[in-house]
Amino acid sequence: MNLPVLDRGFIRLADFMGGDLTVVQTARVSFGQGAKGEEQDRKLIRYLLAHGHETPFEQSVFQFHVKCPIFVARQWFRHRWSSFNEISGRYTVFPEDEYYIPDRKRVKEEKNKQGSALADLPEEEHRAFGERIRDATERAIAAYRALLDEGTAKELARIVLPLNMYTQFYWSVNARALMNFLRLRCDEHAQHEIRLYAEAARAIFCEKMPWTAEVFDSLWPGNGDRHH
Ligand SMILES: Cc1cc2nc3c(=O)[nH]c(=O)nc-3n(C[C@H](O)[C@H](O)[C@H](O)COP(=O)(O)OP(=O)(O)OC[C@H]3O[C@@H](n4cnc5c(N)ncnc54)[C@H](O)[C@@H]3O)c2cc1C
Repeated sequence: MNLPVLDRGFIRLADFMGGDLTVVQTARVSFGQGAKGEEQDRKLIRYLLAHGHETPFEQSVFQFHVKCPIFVARQWFRHRWSSFNEISGRYTVFPEDEYYIPDRKRVKEEKNKQGSALADLPEEEHRAFGERIRDATERAIAAYRALLDEGTAKELARIVLPLNMYTQFYWSVNARALMNFLRLRCDEHAQHEIRLYAEAARAIFCEKMPWTAEVFDSLWPGNGDRHH
């Protein structure tokens, strides 16, 4: 599965090991037993999640390939119970058109101090907002290119680049840590952009582990109106 996110980003499932039956088998190994049929197996998954017996979910592992702006990656990399490998700005040149421009201006929200809300503005003001960001980004990229042309090392020239430049990384995460990520990043307190990636990751999770995802959604609905 490869899901586009934002104007130039994506999240793609590169590899996957395990699944709902792996959860069931690893949970029942305590009693030397395995799968017992769908109804009982689904009940077991509900029991495990509802009672915090989460280690069997660690036996299923997702490997995602993600392309997102640097400011989103910074938030993502705080999730220590997972593994990351990122493209290097020391060894590669940032392509000059790989940056994120929000299509709408968002403003500080009064109720939710961590969040933001879509600004109620005429279309041309949203466009002007985007142009202001594009202009600042292109000036920074021009400075980056000039530094490279003067022979500056890539690792040093990149420090003039803004946080909306796209980066790419591989992210391996077990289902337990993924559910922690989804609880935190599908929430309305999370920034709009990482929420879009988290919702896409949630759709992939749902596809690969539908029984677990259904229980997870009932316990932590997030913003809710998802369909399996
Ligand atoms: C809305 C929002 C706002 C945020 N704002 C800020 C901010 O202003 N500043 C900031 O620095 N961060 C901020 N964060 C990041 C946040 O503090 C966490 O670092 C991030 O969400 C990762 O969560 P985690 O530690 O649960 O995940 P993981 O690092 O994947 O850890 C998973 C779980 O393992 C356990 N664990 C991991 N490491 C330890 C440890 N060292 N000791 C004990 N138990 C551990 C915990 O149970 C943890 O929940 C914010 C996050 C969100 C969602």
